[in-house]
Amino acid sequence: MKKELPGTVLWKDYLHITLLFVLCSVLLLTRKQAEERFMETFLEKEREEKTVIVIDAGHGGEDPGKVGTANTLEKEINLSIAQKAAQLLSENGFFVVMTRTEDKGLYSASSQNKKRDDLAERVRIITETAPALTVSIHQNSYPTAACKGAQMFYYKGSVEGERLARTLQSVFPEILKDNNRREAKANSEYYLLRKAPCPIVIIECGFLSTPEEEALLVTEEYQQKVAQAICTGIARYLEQSPEGRIENNGDKNCTN
Ligand SMILES: [Zn+2]
Repeated sequence: MKKELPGTVLWKDYLHITLLFVLCSVLLLTRKQAEERFMETFLEKEREEKTVIVIDAGHGGEDPGKVGTANTLEKEINLSIAQKAAQLLSENGFFVVMTRTEDKGLYSASSQNKKRDDLAERVRIITETAPALTVSIHQNSYPTAACKGAQMFYYKGSVEGERLARTLQSVFPEILKDNNRREAKANSEYYLLRKAPCPIVIIECGFLSTPEEEALLVTEEYQQKVAQAICTGIARYLEQSPEGRIENNGDKNCTN
């Protein structure tokens, strides 16, 4: 009989190790799938019970949006305010879907028309989500440095879009206390306003072309106030909705 040397690894040992590895992988995979299924069911249930809001942070990736006098990039301010608004809305009982959560455009690397594909993807997300409403967050710019204050844009002819825009427009100066007298404005050209199948408002939070407003817009504190105005405006709009869609949500003044 052939004598086995101590410390020699046999093919049988390899087989045992391989089998053990396969078994562990199967167990881990099954557990992962179970966890994923649980999360899917949990989110579906939560979504059914809550009012769904889409928060769209404008631009991203290769598209910086407007560039401020101190080189502030609109895409970064948009995302930061969008995340703060989403957090506040979630804390106040809404189910929030964001079109982007990182500095990324919504197009493929091989896209021939990134801007068009990016906007089409945003519309696809909004359409699939079918929310109660959507707000798209942007920053403004103007050739002269005297323009200040947030302004809302809604799709011309959309009754609910206009009501949402007017509600948000009235809440902003209430919370930011900046004497902003701008009025919500109708627009029939913006792609997102034309294509989104739900009340939608583009929120131009402020002017990056005005140094003092740009200096405010980069601070966490001011961004938080803007987020609070967005959340409060949305809650107030829904509270006044004929269908009373806010019944599952909290106070009309969103808290920090
Ligand atoms: Zn923009």
